[in-house]
Amino acid sequence: MSLAFDDYGRPYIILRDQGQKKRMKGLEAYKSNILAAKAVANTLSSSLGPKGMDKMLVSPDGDVSVTNDGATIVEKMEIQHPTAKLLVELSQSQDAEIGDGTTGVVVLAGKLLEQALTLLDKGIHPLKISDGFDRACDVAIKHLETISEEIDIQANEHEALIQAACTALGSKVVSKRKRELGKIAVTAVLDVADLARRDVNLDLIKIQTKTGGSVEDTRLISGILIDKDMSHPQMPKEVNDARICLLTCPFEPPKPKTKHNINISSAEDYKKLYQQEQQYFVDMVKLVKASGANIALCQWGFDDEANHLLLQNELPAVRWVSGTDVELIAMATGARIIPRFQEITPEKLGKAGCVKEVQFGTSNERMLVIENCQCTKAVTILIRGGSQMIVDEAKRSIHDAICVIRNLIKDNRIVYGGGSAELACAIQVLQYADEVSSVEQYAIRSFADALEGIPCCLADNCGLNPITSVAQAKSRQLKENNPRIGIDCMELGTTDMKEQRIYETLSSKKQQIQLATQVVKMILKIDDVIAPDDY
Ligand code: ADP
Ligand code: MG
Repeated sequence: MSLAFDDYGRPYIILRDQGQKKRMKGLEAYKSNILAAKAVANTLSSSLGPKGMDKMLVSPDGDVSVTNDGATIVEKMEIQHPTAKLLVELSQSQDAEIGDGTTGVVVLAGKLLEQALTLLDKGIHPLKISDGFDRACDVAIKHLETISEEIDIQANEHEALIQAACTALGSKVVSKRKRELGKIAVTAVLDVADLARRDVNLDLIKIQTKTGGSVEDTRLISGILIDKDMSHPQMPKEVNDARICLLTCPFEPPKPKTKHNINISSAEDYKKLYQQEQQYFVDMVKLVKASGANIALCQWGFDDEANHLLLQNELPAVRWVSGTDVELIAMATGARIIPRFQEITPEKLGKAGCVKEVQFGTSNERMLVIENCQCTKAVTILIRGGSQMIVDEAKRSIHDAICVIRNLIKDNRIVYGGGSAELACAIQVLQYADEVSSVEQYAIRSFADALEGIPCCLADNCGLNPITSVAQAKSRQLKENNPRIGIDCMELGTTDMKEQRIYETLSSKKQQIQLATQVVKMILKIDDVIAPDDY
């Protein structure tokens, strides 16, 4: 594309290669878009549910990750097709808003697209399909609210929260330890939650991974844990009543810029320069000490010379503290982040009860904990596991669980999982379809079929016959007027999800149905694709 000007100086645009661009219109465009998006959804469908499979993804530079988390899978798939990319965004927006349910939302969108394809083949106009889906979505959402139940967060030592966390963790690689991890997640969230305002600042929960040990060794640490130790082994291992100076400038003399040269022609000059450098260090340490700080945390490094000087001046220091840690420490201890030594003042120091080195397990590696921070409580979940792959996946799983608990603190209504909520909505939507006399009726009915796709998929993934088990569950829901009948994935002998205590948050289910419908409507509105030829 280039901009040109005509004789009168008016701009106009020249589109080059227009003839060589691939162009798809109408039905062909709809279908090709739908098929591309469906391909993504199909990849994810085998990962849904407690017996869902994991995916192994290898990045271009050879890093391997094994995961069951929908958002992570689609993100690492490096999808090129523009419509399929919409599904990636779909999964990510569920992740950002809710945290859990990232696989389910894509699978549901896939089922809806499948239905849309059949409707298009029948000759129904895409806008009618869109409209019908929209109306059905409203009915489903309303029904979800009527079948939702409020839980008591406090009762039985937060048992309901733990169960909800277990449901989120039950489908992950770490499911064997779901109860322990669930408890850790609940305690962590409650520690930092503001129950009066029903709000949780998830930034105050730091998740630190460290390979070694096993997943059982995962634990909750009250305070901020940083994977660093004091910069010199002879510095004190514990600083009580800490006044923290948080620096984002390096402990080193200013370096000559590339443009300037320093000419040293005699030994004296060299000595002078050396002394000047020393003086810089001494001044810096003095400035820090003068403010009353008794520990310095530095985002940058410092060399052995500076390190030695810090030790001599009895100022414990930590180097290479990561940027996110710096922010968290600033938030929790009330420290101001100081970018220049000249700006250090006593008010800018952060306060904490204690900063100390701790050691975990039998390894020699040490980490630092900052306890009893002045401003807010902050906690760290230290995840252990045999390999990087395991700890990474455990981190993603615990993130899901933490999000579920936060959502329940915000809104304590739940629906039951195992596909029961979707099935109940499907029944309601089907009833509604009968009341609609226009063409949309077909689309509404298809929406119900798509909702049924979720329990179908769950049953399929755990080796049950999907059609029989969904049919059985549906007839029992109708007969007993019980919206809690779903798929008994773990073969516990009951299909009542209340008895199995499979809790899912209402907010997550609502969001899943709404987001999936939105994306499908968006795809159905694209009737012309103009793309470079190599697409
Ligand atoms: P997502 O990324 O969408 O959360 P999951 O793999 O966590 O995907 O699977 C969630 C689905 O599995 C939900 O529909 C949930 O109801 C269902 N589910 C989870 N645990 C069980 C269980 N023990 N029995 C039956 N269904 C379950
Ligand atoms: Mg989940």
